[in-house]
Amino acid sequence: MKLVVTGAAGFLGSHLTDRLLAEGHSVVGIDNLITGRRRNLAHLRDEPRFAFLERDVSEPIEVEGEIEGVFHFASPASPVDYLRFPIQTLKAGALGTRNALGLARANGSRLLLASTSEVYGDPLVHPQPETYWGNVNPVGPRSVYDEAKRFAEALTMAYHREHGVDTRIVRIFNTYGPRMRPDDGRVVSNFVVQALRGAPLTIYGDGSQSRSFCYVSDLVEGIWRLFNADIHEPVNLGNPGEYTIRALSDLVLATTGSASTVEVRPLPTDDPRMRSPDISLASARLDWTPRIPLEVGLKRTVEYFRGMQPPGGPGAALE
Ligand code: NAD
Ligand code: UDP
Repeated sequence: MKLVVTGAAGFLGSHLTDRLLAEGHSVVGIDNLITGRRRNLAHLRDEPRFAFLERDVSEPIEVEGEIEGVFHFASPASPVDYLRFPIQTLKAGALGTRNALGLARANGSRLLLASTSEVYGDPLVHPQPETYWGNVNPVGPRSVYDEAKRFAEALTMAYHREHGVDTRIVRIFNTYGPRMRPDDGRVVSNFVVQALRGAPLTIYGDGSQSRSFCYVSDLVEGIWRLFNADIHEPVNLGNPGEYTIRALSDLVLATTGSASTVEVRPLPTDDPRMRSPDISLASARLDWTPRIPLEVGLKRTVEYFRGMQPPGGPGAALE
């Protein structure tokens, strides 16, 4: 198949691209590099089945030849990134999703939308099943991401219902692994980079808020299974293992062997108190459960960031 991945130069998009190529398909990666990096795709420079287009998906998308699938992953995803690019984030979720759906419709192809656990906002139901409608502040700073993704889901369902586009929606819970940017601001990359530098780990609030962390290869496996299944309603993918942020900081210190201290910083506005996926649907319909425990995934992530350190060693600037 010839497949399109928007956001291909990002953390998840680049791993997904690798998987699609490994399945024997051709991939056209589209990215405007607002939060992604060419280095995430550098290993594909001589791959004849891969082509890269530097484009903004909020502008109309044209791809030569017939396409059989579109994976719409283009959007800033880290809170630090989407708070820095609020309007671009709303545009990627709204206009970008419209353009990606238009591309799928024109080609009669399938489309998978990368949605998020943030559609549940600061959840009042825990863990979160797909049937929960969420608790989102529609005008708070995080709304640029949450509401863009909620609109993207609504638009995707409308294209499915009105135009018969063969759509999938994945609600991705916190995912981590190699190729995250060291400065992307998410908690795993922040803690690992801080620990390797010997800098204090920055805990926002009292660290009692929880998240559930999925290793990237587990997530990509679930996405590929969902793409190949016949499910149009949203499906949660994430690792149900739930940790407080303070517990995560302890684990990062133990994994890196770092002597870093921790430093308390203010909790961002509307930061969800807790988050964990109910994955009954993915487990029943996709026969999917995550395999990589946090201890193992963290080790691999630490190795990646260690490898990125210049010969100056710990303390030298990471990229
Ligand atoms: P990322 O920032 O590493 O990747 C996003 C990519 O999209 C970047 O390469 C960026 O340059 C590109 N992009 C953004 N706006 C664009 C535009 N207008 N045109 C073209 N390219 C554009 O983030 P990620 O973690 O890889 O997230 C990828 C997708 O998965 C996002 O849609 C995100 O909302 C979703 N998601 C990720 C997580 C996670 O934990 N990683 C969780 C929930 C949802
Ligand atoms: N967080 C933290 N220190 C950091 C970065 C994040 O304590 O350096 C917290 C953040 O406040 C949130 C959790 O870790 O409670 C997860 O944040 P992240 O930005 O990774 O993703 P989110 O789940 O909030 O989208």
